[in-house]
Amino acid sequence: MAEKTLFQKIADREIPADIVYEDDQCIAFRDINPQAPTHLLIVPRRPIPTLDDITEEDAPLIGHLFVVARRLAAQEGIAGGYRTVFNCGAAAGQSVFHLHLHLLGGRPMQWPPG
Ligand code: 5GP
Repeated sequence: MAEKTLFQKIADREIPADIVYEDDQCIAFRDINPQAPTHLLIVPRRPIPTLDDITEEDAPLIGHLFVVARRLAAQEGIAGGYRTVFNCGAAAGQSVFHLHLHLLGGRPMQWPPG
């Protein structure tokens, strides 16, 4: 069996994290190195490595991650002013190769992100 990803270990409670939400498809927890007052990672339970690996069958799952992001933004008090990001590949800054949606908010955001 393939070795578990860092985020699978968090989902399985082998590594501690501040988990704020979970359901049968995904888990969400606070980023260990937050880049904004709210910085959550919304992670599918299935260890898809990058956005390049998704298929048409994953469309409902990807949509679900955004619905969870919207709910968590409301819960965090940042509805109407937040950013969601998938970094795809090392060149885009991806460092954990288990797909995750960043939810950032609570401060003014700049564009372009750099
Ligand atoms: P990426 O750079 O792959 O888009 O995002 C990975 C994120 O995972 C980073 O923002 C990083 O701070 C976060 N991260 C890395 N290791 C851990 C960890 O052990 N626990 C938590 N909660 N976040 C982590």
